[in-house]
This record gives sequence, structure tokens and C-alpha cells, in this order.
Amino acid sequence: MLSVAFGQAKYYTDNLRENILRGIRQKIRRGELSAKAPLGYFNEPRLRTIEPDRKTFNKVKEVLRTFATGNYTLSQIADKMFSLGLVGPKSGKKMSLSSVEHILKNPFYYGHFRYRGELHQGSHKPMITKKLFDKIQKALKDNGKPRKKRKVKNFPFLGFAKCGECGYAITAEKQVKKSGLEFVYYHCTYKSKIQKCSQRGFLREEKLAEQIKEQCQKVSLPDVWRDRFLDKLKMWENENRQTSDLFAQNLKKKIEELKTKISRLTDAYLEGTFELAEFQQKKNALAGEKKTLEEKLSDFEREGNHWLELTRNWIIEANQAKNLALQENFPEMKNFLKKIGLNRQISQQKLSIDFKKPFNLLAKLPAEARGEAPSEAANSIWWRRRESNPRPKALPSDIYMFSLQFNF
Ligand SMILES: [Zn+2]
Repeated sequence: MLSVAFGQAKYYTDNLRENILRGIRQKIRRGELSAKAPLGYFNEPRLRTIEPDRKTFNKVKEVLRTFATGNYTLSQIADKMFSLGLVGPKSGKKMSLSSVEHILKNPFYYGHFRYRGELHQGSHKPMITKKLFDKIQKALKDNGKPRKKRKVKNFPFLGFAKCGECGYAITAEKQVKKSGLEFVYYHCTYKSKIQKCSQRGFLREEKLAEQIKEQCQKVSLPDVWRDRFLDKLKMWENENRQTSDLFAQNLKKKIEELKTKISRLTDAYLEGTFELAEFQQKKNALAGEKKTLEEKLSDFEREGNHWLELTRNWIIEANQAKNLALQENFPEMKNFLKKIGLNRQISQQKLSIDFKKPFNLLAKLPAEARGEAPSEAANSIWWRRRESNPRPKALPSDIYMFSLQFNF
């Protein structure tokens, strides 16, 4: 009796399992995934299909596109998702790196889905192309792996400069002296396979810090000169407002004149004064001239006073550099020098930096220029005295000079 009963029960469950599997297979054949919808989609309860979720679809799309650029690590993209409001469905918190990775690898987003290891064509609306999906897979390979935290993180100037001889990275190491004192040294990694690097010297961290501070001071502007330059800039802004109004008015007037000429020419042609070929030639010349002026006007309207803004930013930034050096704020000094300095190199234990314009102008000035009290010597360095109208030497004397000097 019992064996019959058990047998029937097994028959019943086997049958049920078979029926469910059959249902799933039919669904798959129709291109429908029978599982929970991935992020960006939802399970439509009536039709039992998976549809784009209006609230998240475009956000997920943006995330996928962003990651495909290859400029993001997994944890950076997790931060981005969090900032877009894409959070873990249960936790409501930032998604784990493995969930993010799972999303980036899901073929569902380009219109397919995986079932039991096999890829099936889906009937749902794809979010991205297969091409973009492939880009994402490449980006994952290149920088998707969450980087292991550095074991020793007390090397603040790693990645700041390169070896001046072979161009390879500078590394750091800690050495413990017999006395128990610890020192950090920076030196070439000697990684070049082509060039044998002869730089054998190790640079003590304190010495490097000192040089970073010196470089920062070299491109800094004392308070007194910040104020004088900003005053000057205010005057220039007023002058510039008047001249630029005039400039724009002139351009507009010329454009109007050309329009009138073109319409008169057309009238004359219609009255039979010109042949078609002659008319076209004259008209094209005028239209070309008009186009040039119109472009000039729109360029001017777009960036007419841009140089004043750039100058102001520069004055303030250069003055900030002085404060950073004064406060011995090494992380910020490092960032600042990275921003304004190219070719940061160490060779013979000496740091050298090529400063970008216009910071290179400051770097060339003698040390007397940076005193806080405006001495006669400092005056003659900074100020170009021309009768009653002194102008800062480090700042060029007019817009034209300025654009030459600063490459705007
Ligand atoms: Zn080297």
C-alpha cells in the first residue's frame, strides 16, 4: 500500500516538474525570460512580460554608456549609480561591486538573455547595442577589477613625478635605520628595458616635500599684488565693457549695411540691370562678407570677456598657492602643481617642473618679487611704470597682447 502511495506521489511531482519545465521552455522559445526583471526593467504582471521601467531605464542606460568609455572603475561606477538613485533593491544602499559587475555583464541589456548557460534572443526592448555591450566587456577587463588597497599608503608623493633620465615612474620605499628611525626614499623604478638608467640617488621624502613647497612658492602671488592686480582688472573690466559695446555695435551696423546692399542688388537684377551671372557673382561676394561678420559677432558675443575672467581666476589661484605653501598643505600643493605643471621630473635628486602659461611668467620672476611688503625692488619687477598709468608687468598691457601671451 505504502509503496503504491509513494509511487503515486513521485509520479505526481515528476509530472508537475515536467509541466513547469515545459512552460518555461515555451516561454524561452517566445523570447521571454522567466525570472526577475533586471535593473531598468520590470515584470509586467498581466502580460507576464518584461518591460522598460520608466523610472530607471534611462539611468541604467547612462551608467552603461559611461562605463563603456573605459574611464571608470567598478567602484566609481557604483558611486555614480548611487548618485543617480540606483540602489540595491533590498538594502536601499549603494550596490555591491559584484552586483554592479553582474549588471555590466548581463546580455539582457542588448536584447538577449541567458538561461542555463545558453544565450537566447529575447523579445524585450533592448537598452543598448551589442557593440556597446562589447565595449563594456573590454572596459571590465581593463579596469573593472576592484584594485587592491596599497599595503603601504604612507607615500604621499607617489605618482607625482617621473624619472628625469629614463622617463619611468618614481617609486618609494621605507628604510629602517639601525637606530630605529624610519625614512622614506623616492627613486627611479628602473623599469625601462631599452635604456639603462644611471640615476642611482635616493631622494628623502622631506627633501622632496621641501622642493614641492619651493616650486609652489615660485608660482605664487603675494597678497599685496593680488589686491593691486584685482584693482587693475576692475578698471580693465570697465574700459572693456565700453569698448566691447562699441565693437559689437559696429559689427551689427556693418551687417545691416550689407543686407541693404544685397536687397538693392536684387532689385537691380529684377529690373534687368544685370545679367544673371554678374548678379550671382556680386551677390555671392556680399553674402560671403556678411557671413564672416556674423561669425565674428557670434564669437565675440560668446567669449568677448572671457580673458578677463581667466585673468581673475589666475590671480586668485596664484595667491592661493602662497597660502598652501604657508600652511604646508602638501596634498593640495601636489594637486595644484599637477594641474599647472607639465613634465614633473626628478633627476639628480632635483625636482623640475615646466609650468603652463601664464604660471610660467611667475616662475621666472626673482625671489624679491614675492616679498609681502611692496619694496622699491618689488615695484620695479611687477609694475610697468608708464607716466601716470602703471600696468602690471606680469599682465600684458592690452587685449591683443594678452591674447598673444596667454594663447587664448
Ligand atoms: Zn630612471
